[in-house]
Formats: sequence, structure tokens, C-alpha cells
Amino acid sequence: GELSGFAALGIGGALLKATLAAGFKEPKPIQVQAIPPQLEGRDIFGIAQTGSGKTAAFALPILSKIIGLGTKRRPKTARALILAPTRELAVQNEDTIKLLAKGAHISTALVLGGVSRFSQVKKIAPGVDILIATPGRLTDLVREGDLILADTKWLVLDEGDRMLDMGFINDVKRIAKATAPDRQTALFSATMPDEIAELAKGLLKNPVRVEVSPQSTTAAEIVQSVVLARTRQKRQVLSKMLVDEAMRTVIVFSRTKHGADRVTKDLVRDGFEAAVIHGNKSQNARQKALNDFRDGSVRILVATDIAARGIDVPGISHVVNFDLPDEAESYVHRIGRTGRNGRDGIAITLCDPSENAKLRQV
Ligand code: AMP
Repeated sequence: GELSGFAALGIGGALLKATLAAGFKEPKPIQVQAIPPQLEGRDIFGIAQTGSGKTAAFALPILSKIIGLGTKRRPKTARALILAPTRELAVQNEDTIKLLAKGAHISTALVLGGVSRFSQVKKIAPGVDILIATPGRLTDLVREGDLILADTKWLVLDEGDRMLDMGFINDVKRIAKATAPDRQTALFSATMPDEIAELAKGLLKNPVRVEVSPQSTTAAEIVQSVVLARTRQKRQVLSKMLVDEAMRTVIVFSRTKHGADRVTKDLVRDGFEAAVIHGNKSQNARQKALNDFRDGSVRILVATDIAARGIDVPGISHVVNFDLPDEAESYVHRIGRTGRNGRDGIAITLCDPSENAKLRQV
């Protein structure tokens, strides 16, 4: 009979079976638009948000082409490279790819900051089919000679606009340049600022442009709460709180530089990866802390109010006020670090009875 669903788009065999088993019965619009041209070898410029189904839209064609290439890979190489701006997205991408590749002999590897470099190097040593990476750590591995990109024939840049926001654009260009010149490329971005259009021009060859309108965008909401805690207990309260993995990316505010240093030291002693920025730190140290926080190498950034002005790190899930600021106005600036780009955020304030007056002002 006539083919329908994913089969009609050109997906077959074990891949089709795994796709259906994953619960993907009918392709989403971005998949309908993007899968057939990629199977034909075309580059894609996709305007689509997370939630649109874009992961399968780029993963299925790549898997379809890689399945059947066999397991003979050059050491330290990757057949396909998926670049994502954040570790959460990279992890999510790998999960989806593994799900879709179930039953096929496809190797994947994740390269992220903040986790053991050694195990990543080991995993890519024999060569992998699909490498999913954030730009920072990937650049490290390439620089150290632990990864060779010259054989990479498929390149995906996911959430290009966030990549731009996070200052990864030059890394991305360098990485793309190191891949095979005859590669096939897909660039996805939720929005299309000029820099993305320009990036697309540089990286894509005669791309097919696909676009899906975002699903209902909910307004960002910041949920605020207060935890009553004696000053001397705050350290423990904070550490207990941070055990919760839902606190993915956390900025902790301290009123003073000295306080920021102490909070950081305590967190590190409790086994957390935390970086600190305040006015007594050198520009280099501040930049390093910020970069590590941005690329996810550290989950927690401790900051004073002044040092935090003007820093824009998208995707901060939680703001914790270790203490209340002197000025109520600063509270608004602090919690505004979360709930950006239409995402929800959570702000938690630790309050000692001696701070009640400040709390009332807020
Ligand atoms: P993505 O935008 O790739 O993060 O996908 C958003 C969500 O939609 C994920 O939870 C996917 O598992 C799911 N999804 C993607 N494509 C399909 C499909 N064709 N049918 C059902 N669910 C899908």
C-alpha cells in the first residue's frame, strides 16, 4: 500500500521501527519539511524552537545515512557532530538520538564541560558515529589532539541564537571550519538575528529553509519564595537545597565580597562545583568564572550585586539570595537573572530575623 508517516518521508528499516517504538507515530511539521531534503543531501536552515520536534528532524536523516556505514571508523574521529549551547540540551539530544537509534549499531558520545575529560577522551578514542558536544570542551579536545574533526561529514548547530548569546560564535566557526569541507550542515535557531543569518551564509551551502511557528509561548514567570534561616545555618540550608538536581544552573547572591568568598569556599568544601565573581577578582578570573558558568562546567556562580550587573547568562534556573541586599532595588536585579528568554525561573531568599526590615522593603 501507500507509505504514510515517517516511511513516506524516507525513513525505513530498523530506524523506522525504533521511531515508532519511541512513540513518534506521525511526523511533526518540522520533520515533514526537513527530513526529505536532508536525505537528499541538502543543507538545512531551520527556524524552530525546542519543543517543535527538531531533534528528530535532524537526527533521523543522519542516522539513516550512518546506519550501514559499518563500524570501521578512524580513531579519534566522529562521523557526525551535533553542537549544542548548553549541557542540558546536549544531554537531551543524546537521549533522543539513542532512542531513535535503538537496535542499530550506532555509537554516541557526549563531550561537555564540568565532567571528567578522561572518560570522554577514552570514549572517542576508537572513533564514534555521533558526537554531541558543547563548544567549550570540544574546542579543548581538538586543541589537545584528542579529537580530529576532518572526517566529520554531518554537522548540526542546535539553538544557534543561544550559541550566539553565550559567546560561542567564534568557537562554532572554528569548529565548523575543521570539519570535512564536503560535509552536510543543518543550522537550527529559534530566532533569526542578523548574526545568525550571516553565520548561515558562511556555513550552509544552498540551504533549504524550513520554518515552523512556535507553539504557544507562555510568559516567563519567576516564582519567589523566602526561607527563614539563622545566619549561621544558611550555609547548611544552601547545601541541602543544592543537592536537588532540578537546580540546574544557580546564581547565589551575597551582599559582600567577603561573604561571596566564604559561601563559595563552603560550597566547594561540600563537594559542589562553584565559581565566584566580585570586584576584588581580576578581570581574567571573573571572565573564567563566567565562561565556566556559561558553558556548564560549573553549576553554581556566587556573585556580589555589582559584579553581577550586566552579566547575561541565559538559562539560569534558580537565583538564591544568600542574604538580602541593602537596597530593595537590587533584589529586582538579582531575581531578573532567571526567567529570561520566556523561560520560567525560581528565586529563593534566605532570611535571618535580623534582615526582616530589608525583607519588608522588598
Ligand atoms: P524537540 O523539539 O526535538 O526537543 O522535541 C520535543 C518533544 O516532542 C520531545 O519530547 C520529543 O520526544 C517529541 N517528539 C518529537 N517528534 C515527535 C513525533 N513525531 N511524535 C511524537 N512526539 C514527538
